[in-house]
Amino acid sequence: MSSRSDVTQLIGNVCEKKSIENAPVSSYFGINTFSDLTMHKMISEKTFKAFKKWQEGGSVISSAQADEIAHAMKEWAISKGATSYTHWFQPMTGLTAEKHDSFISMNESGSVIEKFTGNKLIQGEPDASSFPSGGIRATFEARGYTAWDPSSPAFIVEVEQGKTLCIPSIFVSYTGDALDKKLPLLRSENAINNSATELIKLFGHDDVKYVISTCGAEQEYFLIDAAYYKMRSDLMLTGRTLVGADSPKGQQLEDQYFGSIKERMLNYMNEVSEEAYKLGIPVTTRHNEVAPHQYEFAPIFEKSNLAADNNQLLMDVMKKVALRHNLVCLLHEKPFAGVNGSGKHVNWSLSDDKGNNLLNPGETPEENLLFLTVLVGVIHAVYNHADILRASVASAGNEHRLGANEAPPAIVSIYLGEQLTKIIKMIESGKIEKAQKQDLIDLGVGLLPKFIKDTTDRNRTSPFAFTGQKFEFRAVGSALNISTPIAVMNTIVADSFDILAERIKAESSNKEFSAAVLKVLAGMISESKKVLFEGNNYSDEWVSEARKRGLPNTASSPEALKAFVTPKAIDLFERQKVLSKVELNSRYSIWVELYAKMLQIEAQTLAEIVNTQVLPAAYSYQTELAGGLELLRDLSDDTTVSIVSGALADRKEAFEALTADIYYVRKNLKEMEPLLQKAAGMGEAEMAQFYYSELKPHMDHIRRHVDALESVMPDDMWVLPKYRELLFVS
Ligand code: ADP
Ligand code: MG
Repeated sequence: MSSRSDVTQLIGNVCEKKSIENAPVSSYFGINTFSDLTMHKMISEKTFKAFKKWQEGGSVISSAQADEIAHAMKEWAISKGATSYTHWFQPMTGLTAEKHDSFISMNESGSVIEKFTGNKLIQGEPDASSFPSGGIRATFEARGYTAWDPSSPAFIVEVEQGKTLCIPSIFVSYTGDALDKKLPLLRSENAINNSATELIKLFGHDDVKYVISTCGAEQEYFLIDAAYYKMRSDLMLTGRTLVGADSPKGQQLEDQYFGSIKERMLNYMNEVSEEAYKLGIPVTTRHNEVAPHQYEFAPIFEKSNLAADNNQLLMDVMKKVALRHNLVCLLHEKPFAGVNGSGKHVNWSLSDDKGNNLLNPGETPEENLLFLTVLVGVIHAVYNHADILRASVASAGNEHRLGANEAPPAIVSIYLGEQLTKIIKMIESGKIEKAQKQDLIDLGVGLLPKFIKDTTDRNRTSPFAFTGQKFEFRAVGSALNISTPIAVMNTIVADSFDILAERIKAESSNKEFSAAVLKVLAGMISESKKVLFEGNNYSDEWVSEARKRGLPNTASSPEALKAFVTPKAIDLFERQKVLSKVELNSRYSIWVELYAKMLQIEAQTLAEIVNTQVLPAAYSYQTELAGGLELLRDLSDDTTVSIVSGALADRKEAFEALTADIYYVRKNLKEMEPLLQKAAGMGEAEMAQFYYSELKPHMDHIRRHVDALESVMPDDMWVLPKYRELLFVS
């Protein structure tokens, strides 16, 4: 028996028993977060007010106030059993980063006390110097520091042997350059706040104090058994299978989607939900996705910076809890070739300080007009900066989805639905049609068909869809940090709002307001309508149609990332004060380098698997086949044995096919080595592009022949767990 089959016998009985809180969720939701409510109870009213003001963008709290909050936070954390704290931040690579420190310090008498000061709360130790900064720190400052982000509550992370207080932070250089993904998001919130409130004011809403973006990120993932995982170095080192033949049963039956969730997986989901609730993450739905062993968590939407922290935290919890169930949670965008990949649909909208959703058509003519204005602003933004949106989701993993074998495509287009499309067309043409009386909305200057939240036709193929009161950006990869795509959305929409506001002001100086707005909208629509597409985004016709329309379609990640450093992008991000040229350049170089490194690791892992696991088995089988062939040939010379004509030729064919596959595996492998050597002398951008165009095709060739070997070789000779085991055993 192979070790593969030994493992298969063991699987299924390995779920650890853990009792779930036997209480309503409301009784423990957020118990591990230092919420505003908890803080309020523990500090003076004056300090709390100052803190709230700071949180809403006002002046920074005093150092005495910071001390007071730090003390309260420490007392709370210690009462929960925490012994250390860490500034928790989102570096430009990887998930999240932490640097732990103990609360203890020595007092004069030499005994240990727990102490935590405002200084330590607000600013972390200048360190973390091993995080990539894309040259920023090398140029300006040797080190960066972490700084408390008061807009996101501190929380406690529990492991079996201890608890840690985590303080959400940003990571900046001494010159104030963003060295993380969170600070640009916070700056983009400022940008959208400024631009949206200005725009809204024109519509008479002087009372709006601020506007925020909101987000709910639907998180897809795979669960596989840890025993199989450990037998596949490709999964361990790269997060995806680099070889692996299709299983006879793939997702053809589509019997997984919303199917009954296996008990073992359900146990896992229950525990993740419980951990998430304790951390104040409002996870609501979970169900099976399209592929076998693929699932999803979706949270209730929150303001974007919280949603971003919570999604990072959720991914962390998902990975940790899986291990307790002897499962591994795969967040990679494409763990299995030929099987549906994983995305993270980022639902995005804007809300004012009273919780009014700006993408919600309202009751009054003014509200409807504002809704349409916001909608057109988004359309204009996505059209103008489709390349930057595409760049915001570029990664080696996500490249297997976008523009590759599956959707959504790398072409960014917007789906509005039939009704809204009709309305947009009417506005553009300036002709406002008569419709059924009850379906009318009055815009003051004319009647338009009423917009009803459309939940029937969802067009699952669109990368950027209006799904009733929100847009859904579906091109985001399952492993990605959502901070960057949200920051980009906020920034590009802020910019289009500025343009809108300017045009509306000019137009309404000599025209009735609603008429002026409609005229401006008509112009905006005709400028940007090329980005609207209602059809099937997976079709070849759309690819050629999009080309005709001049929409960008960039399958290569290194190529797509260039959109961050074009003069157009630099102007935009500097104008909106979200990222400087230096910060954009640093991001570009870090992300192309990361891409190149990922591909290099994949190539090396593939070479190792092929050399040490695939070829030795294939050679054995080749020898076996050769022996059999020889025997058959000898026997066919024996006149006393009658062998069916064609049998020898058939045996030869089998041997020849196997030999050819072995040969081509080796040939491509040998050609890969000089490619890696050649790349060693290149700059990171050139290297990334070279790997995309030269290395990836080679890896694909190797894979094709390895998979051919897998499908003919004896099962017990094949060392790597197969797709049918990874995806159907539970
Ligand atoms: P759908 O039917 O489109 O899947 P759901 O109500 O299930 O809609 O929501 C999907 C995701 O969108 C959830 O995470 C939800 O919280 C989020 N969402 C809903 N409304 C908004 C909004 N106004 N802003 C941001 N995200 C939202
Ligand atoms: Mg969705």
